[in-house]
This record gives sequence, structure tokens and C-alpha cells, in this order.
Amino acid sequence: MRLHLLAALAALLAAPALAHEADLTRLPLGDGKISTEPKVGFIWACRIDPNAGGAFRNGPWIKDDGTYDFTRKAVVPGDVHWPSRYSMRLEGDNRVFSLNDLPSHGTGVFPIPADSEAYRYDRNPNRIEAHDLDVVLPANPVPAPQPSCAPGAVGILLSGAVLFNALDAPGRDAVAHETQDKCQGHPQESGVYHYHSISTCIDDKRLPDGHSALVGYALDGFGIYGRYGEGGKLLSSADLDACHGHTHMIEWDGKRVMMYHYHATWDFPYTVGCLRGTWSFKNMMTISGGPPRHRGFGPFGPP
Ligand SMILES: [Zn+2]
Ligand SMILES: [Zn+2]
Repeated sequence: MRLHLLAALAALLAAPALAHEADLTRLPLGDGKISTEPKVGFIWACRIDPNAGGAFRNGPWIKDDGTYDFTRKAVVPGDVHWPSRYSMRLEGDNRVFSLNDLPSHGTGVFPIPADSEAYRYDRNPNRIEAHDLDVVLPANPVPAPQPSCAPGAVGILLSGAVLFNALDAPGRDAVAHETQDKCQGHPQESGVYHYHSISTCIDDKRLPDGHSALVGYALDGFGIYGRYGEGGKLLSSADLDACHGHTHMIEWDGKRVMMYHYHATWDFPYTVGCLRGTWSFKNMMTISGGPPRHRGFGPFGPP
């Protein structure tokens, strides 16, 4: 017992040091890393729209050498709190969620204030709105014979908000280009608050063995874990398969099981590169009908 506690303490103490192993000032830009088949470090996206809106101007944090400085990105200011609703229950073979897509953490002010630095690069004119989502996922998914492409919305995070894939509407690296709030979230044109990576406002907790705890669920029902793998190793996309996951013993609904799971990384495609299990748009629908999509922000641009 005592050894167990010591190991947990050691893992906790080691966490800040390991976090600095990723150089957030020089993250590789994911633009163009789109494929039409499973490919490590790429995203196999079902659909992009080259004419859709997004940030209209590159910020100075995007460099000429194919990297960007995550720490220098313009951040949408504000700390707005919302009546977040999120619960999950197991019902037979299903994992049933009740949520309104309002996050449990503070958000920036949207539409982006005209006097903010962020507005110079991205004029997202949308406001955050509650969306009752109907989400039913397989409780104990198994890998499909073949992986499949990732749609826009690829899962939900434990903050109660939707996770989109790594791309903005025209198909660029959304984490690099889009101007987001301090929790890396923002609303799309129907007000759906979403992320394109694992929010830094969700604590990347560690299990006693150093592996990250669960941070969300993908559309195929597999778990999404934080940035640390077995033994507390900080993972990058190169450590994972083309869908951005791997299989080993993990904690799942309070039990240790041998299971496939996704990981977050600091590098592109950040979360899900393709879907390893079976999924359907029916797994996640807005109550008004249809899955949440990233269609861009509508017509806007430089003055
Ligand atoms: Zn977005
Ligand atoms: Zn793992």
C-alpha cells in the first residue's frame, strides 16, 4: 500500500517536468496532413470544404519553418461561466449521455470582441449557445475490421462539450489557425462550442502507473485519454497508430481491461486521426436533427 502511494506521489511530482518535454513554441503545423486512408500523423477526414470560412489572416505565431508557437497565439479574452449539464450512464450495451454542450469551465467572450488582439486574425461572429445533444455510444466497443474516416465531430470531452477533428472548415490545422479562448474552444455558426484538441482546462490527470486518465469519448465509443502513455511517457503521434491510438491494459469504468483507446498529443492531429471502431452519425445528434458540423463562420473577412 505504502509503495503504491509512493509511486503515485512520484508520478505526480514527475508530471510537470515531463510536460516540458514538448516544445510548445515549435509545434509542427498540420496544414496539408490530410489523407484518404489511415496514415500516422495525418487525419483521414471524411469531408472538407475549401471555400469555408475561418481565420482570415495568419497570426505571427505561425512561422515560416512549418511550425507554430502555441504559447504566442492570440487568445479570445474573457471568463464567461455557463450552466453546464453533463452526465453519463451505462444502459446495457450502451453508454448514454445527457449534455447541453455548455462547458464546465469558463469561456472567452463570443462574438470575438473587436478591440481584442484575436479579432485582428479571426472574426468569429458566432455566440455560444446551449445544444441538447443526444449521444449514445457503444459501452464496450471493439475495433472494426477496417478503420474509417473521421467526421467533423469526433467525440465529447468530460467538460461536457464537443470535440471536433483537427481541421478547420477549409481543412487547415485548426489548433494553429483558429483563434480560440483560453480553453482552446469556440463556437461554430450554429453556436456549438467545440475544441479541436484536448483542452488545457481539462486536467490531464495521471493514474498511479503514470498513464493519463480518461478525458473523453470518441464517436465509436472508445475512450480518449490524456497525453501520457504507459509508464508516464509523454506521447507524440509517432508513438500511436494511424487513428491516434493503441491497445494495452487500461482503466475502463473502474476495471482494468485490455482495450483499444485514443490518446491526446500536443502534435497534429491532436486527438483522433481516423475511427478505429464502428460509428454512425446517429451516435451523436443535436435534438434539432443532424450531427454538429464545422461549416465555418459564414461570410466575413478583413475590413
Ligand atoms: Zn473550430
Ligand atoms: Zn495508452
